[in-house]
Amino acid sequence: MLTNTPRGTKDILPEDVANWRYLEEKIRDICEIFGFKEIRTPLFEHTELFQRSIGEDTDVVDKEMYTFLDRGGRSITLRPENTAAAVRAYLQNKLYADNALTKLFYIGSMFRFDRPQAGRMREFHQFGVEAIGEENPAVDAEVILLAVNFLKSLGLKDLELSINSVGCPKCRAEYRKKLQDFFRDKLDTLCDDCKSRFERSPMRILDCKKDSDKPFMQDAPRVTDSLCEECREHFEKVKAYLTEAGIEYKLDPNLVRGLDYYTKTAFEIKYTPLGAQSAVAGGGRYDGLVEEIGGNPTPAVGFAVGLERVLLALEKQNLLPEHDDSADVFIVALGDAAAMPAFKLLNDCRAAGLKSAMDYAGRSMKAQMKQANKFGARFALILGEDEIKENVVVLRDMQKSEQEKIALAEIVKKLVAEVKG
Ligand SMILES: [Zn+2]
Ligand SMILES: [Zn+2]
Repeated sequence: MLTNTPRGTKDILPEDVANWRYLEEKIRDICEIFGFKEIRTPLFEHTELFQRSIGEDTDVVDKEMYTFLDRGGRSITLRPENTAAAVRAYLQNKLYADNALTKLFYIGSMFRFDRPQAGRMREFHQFGVEAIGEENPAVDAEVILLAVNFLKSLGLKDLELSINSVGCPKCRAEYRKKLQDFFRDKLDTLCDDCKSRFERSPMRILDCKKDSDKPFMQDAPRVTDSLCEECREHFEKVKAYLTEAGIEYKLDPNLVRGLDYYTKTAFEIKYTPLGAQSAVAGGGRYDGLVEEIGGNPTPAVGFAVGLERVLLALEKQNLLPEHDDSADVFIVALGDAAAMPAFKLLNDCRAAGLKSAMDYAGRSMKAQMKQANKFGARFALILGEDEIKENVVVLRDMQKSEQEKIALAEIVKKLVAEVKG
């Protein structure tokens, strides 16, 4: 047990970190182009923040949160998502004072106690954006475009964008009634969760994981047929902006994003070759959340991308770049007398910006040359008692298998010229 990570977590090993850094670089590039600024919020928050924002009787709050009392007796929760924390930070730090529209992005670990499977871990990583302060449908389109362009910038094709409008509290009251009328005589066939959703939030029956493929779901009343004038117009404009941007989309009337604070636009991006884990990004408008957390009514829209799934997709398509972490120079020190001069040479090489390594185990020439190959070193510097007496070093080009003696005083300059060209 001492040498195993807790279930649902894993180490990101040095060879994988290169892929994560690649992904993070792509995220920062696209967010900079779109004018979103990075925010880093704590890994844990007051439990009430998530209870209030995600809502009681949701799977996340009821079954999946890592919640504990700290030593001061306060209830603390590891963040299961980051929208609520971003909005909390927006209010606490009065970010609204600087701009009418605040555009934030984040990258980081989230925590949910869920059954671990491929692409779904208990500690998982999300990239997300939140655009807070503007109700204009152009912002919905901008946020969707950012998500699509990010995934495309990684080389992913076969992306499928679905959109819907879930209306606003005004038009949803009527829609709820229509849904209840529709589901009333089908209640027996629904799962227990849905039976209890029927009264409180019948919309969430539509995206129930257990019931969503029941044949009658296709005939359920569509929220887009119940939209009020304002919501309908907003949705039409979002679609028009997406068309203007040349983005293809599909309308999915059952895309409802169960949480109550979601309003108007909802969207999801699937990477179809991933099968059951194909949803890589999801988001939408949440005009009700800022007020729910204690701010003034403030419109907002955002999304989150599951980075484990994106990495799975990139692996599947061989889209991850090769990483070159090979050394420029490997120093081979032979005999005790060489140890100190070799150490000085190593430090001089590093001070000149050369990626440098050496062997400290005092092994044979052959073993050290093997080591130099393992490091992928372009050059080996060989330093033994004879070289030290002559004030030279043997420079060996590992690819050409050629070697020559160079004056110790000249070697770093020569290497820099070779490596940095
Ligand atoms: Zn409405
Ligand atoms: Zn159900």
